[in-house]
Amino acid sequence: MDESAPLETGIPAKRRNGGSNPSLSAYSGQPMKKPFLLILSHCLLNQGVRAEGFPFEKKIQEGIHRIIARYHPSLLQMPCPEFSFLGKREKMTYDQYEKLAGFREHCKKLAEEIRDYVRKSDAHCLVIGIAGSPSCSLSRIKVKEEKRKGKGIFMQELEKKIKGEYLDLDYDNPEASLAKVEELLQKLLGT
Ligand code: SF4
Repeated sequence: MDESAPLETGIPAKRRNGGSNPSLSAYSGQPMKKPFLLILSHCLLNQGVRAEGFPFEKKIQEGIHRIIARYHPSLLQMPCPEFSFLGKREKMTYDQYEKLAGFREHCKKLAEEIRDYVRKSDAHCLVIGIAGSPSCSLSRIKVKEEKRKGKGIFMQELEKKIKGEYLDLDYDNPEASLAKVEELLQKLLGT
């Protein structure tokens, strides 16, 4: 990979990370005030857990890999709440998951496990959700046939437990949403 090239997001890296030590700024190599943790929705690194019928989204996958390669953040890949509850499944809407017995409890339990893990690291967190997901969205959901503003069930539970920054990536708009994540990452890393 050519590390001197700008990311596909269109935002050139201003500096380069000197190593993978999570307590060092990815830009200056100077110690950061607090360690930094990038917390990813599971399917950003493994789209195999998505519901049936979604095509593989190469731009999102490559964009996330480039961001990781460029900034070397400490990482946490969260479990997929839907796959860990149902396994392979058809696409469902927010209201269907709300009615699914035990699903919200399952999301709460996962959120508690992630909170306990994050507490041990005492890190500043950036959580990346998925726009439109009934579980992982931070921006919009689908209720019956209607798209509306709202958060997925898992993210609602996670926000109660983990302080930090939250932002969606959007499978329908990969480049713009990757650019926003990278901008926020640069801000958090103090560039
Ligand atoms: S539930 Fe979340 S992690 Fe699982 S496929 Fe949907 S958006 Fe991805």
